[in-house]
Amino acid sequence: MALIVQKYGGTSVGDPDRIRNVARRVVATHDEGNQVVVCVSAMSGETNQLVDLAQQLGGERPDAREYDVLVSTGEQKTIALLAMAIHQLGREARSFTGAQMGMNTDSDHTRARITEIDCTRLRATLDEGAIAVIAGFQGIDPEGNITTLGRGGSDTSAVAMACALEADVCEIYTDVDGVYTADPRVVSDARKLHSVAYEEMLEMASLGAKVLQIRSVKFAMRYGVPIHVRSSFKSDEGTWVTREEDVMERLVVSGVTHNLNEAKIRVKGVEDHPGIAGKLFKPISDAGIQIDMIVQNLSSDGATDMTFTVPRGEYKKALEIANAASGEIGATEVEGDEAIAKISIVGLGMQDHAGVAARMFTTLADEGINIQLISTSEIKVSVVIEEKYAELALRALHAEFVEDGAAEPAPE
Ligand code: ADP
Ligand code: ASP
Ligand code: MG
Repeated sequence: MALIVQKYGGTSVGDPDRIRNVARRVVATHDEGNQVVVCVSAMSGETNQLVDLAQQLGGERPDAREYDVLVSTGEQKTIALLAMAIHQLGREARSFTGAQMGMNTDSDHTRARITEIDCTRLRATLDEGAIAVIAGFQGIDPEGNITTLGRGGSDTSAVAMACALEADVCEIYTDVDGVYTADPRVVSDARKLHSVAYEEMLEMASLGAKVLQIRSVKFAMRYGVPIHVRSSFKSDEGTWVTREEDVMERLVVSGVTHNLNEAKIRVKGVEDHPGIAGKLFKPISDAGIQIDMIVQNLSSDGATDMTFTVPRGEYKKALEIANAASGEIGATEVEGDEAIAKISIVGLGMQDHAGVAARMFTTLADEGINIQLISTSEIKVSVVIEEKYAELALRALHAEFVEDGAAEPAPE
């Protein structure tokens, strides 16, 4: 007997027929003799509608506590509906909200972090032979307030619960049949990976591949729980997100990702002496804005330019703060640009191959694409380019590294 956590995303529970389909799959897994916890998202489009309503009545930045009370309701609907559909198949099932399943978080509304999971009630439910149906995306803070885990957070609910229960596997059922070498909706030649290492998936998720929320991969990696990403409409094997030593293929580049959710701010002519970067970035981080890339130019005549990227939703606020700080740091000008794209290549094999970054830059240059910013780590190279070239860049890099590059022999 295995303990299996299954998570079904919004499209997979998008209408009553699809919820029935999920109920059948859950029951089939249960009837094979397994204990099953099933985590569900809100029906597709529902969370967006709730966010839209919140903004209509609460303004661009609605009160965070009330926002969480509202947007968490989508998942409360689907747990009850799925439990009912399972009952119709003659099996025991019980639904649990975040508070009921012991999903404890901090109080950082709209992007809370899980602090501890108390699985007592879920264990008792499983021991009775029932199926536990849990709400993704939501938790409870120490004061008893409802919290949410950030968009796409049901992946994290499912994986964190799998870790807490020491489950054998966490299956993520979605509308694609696995993790692809690039978003299959943008790059038609993208191909499904059989397996991908936690480290690579972590980079891919943080660089724009929304198939898994980044925190879910962190949990899985820390606790060594394998994730199996697969289709809720087919029964084929999907992609295993697992330890590096269990990955079958060794590719130089496993994935090409794009992120259209960032904006760039450039602060020109700032004084080049200790303390300046702190004066610029501290008020931005104090406002809860996460800075991604930072590039500082070489200084000439004691002055330098600093360029950085922030999430697009926080762009206006970050620009205001940078403008407010500009006097104190002696900046001559602050300018911003929202129409950017971050394109990245990711692969563990890069560590053993020289010249990957240069090959990336040449490929982009051959397409006439100008690179605005660059950042690298051991297993990824990211560039910022004009947004209108995002798809072209993605396809060109995919053709260069995945379609042609796959044949490249891995080192001995
Ligand atoms: P769910 O609602 O099931 O959580 P999401 O929409 O959050 O599903 O994630 C699945 C989507 O992720 C796919 O439809 C696909 O467009 C997108 N995606 C982006 N990059 C990748 C990738 N490398 N492999 C697979 N899917 C990807
Ligand atoms: N329903 C939430 C969202 O749309 C959480 C999730 O689906 O993972 O972001
Ligand atoms: Mg998702």
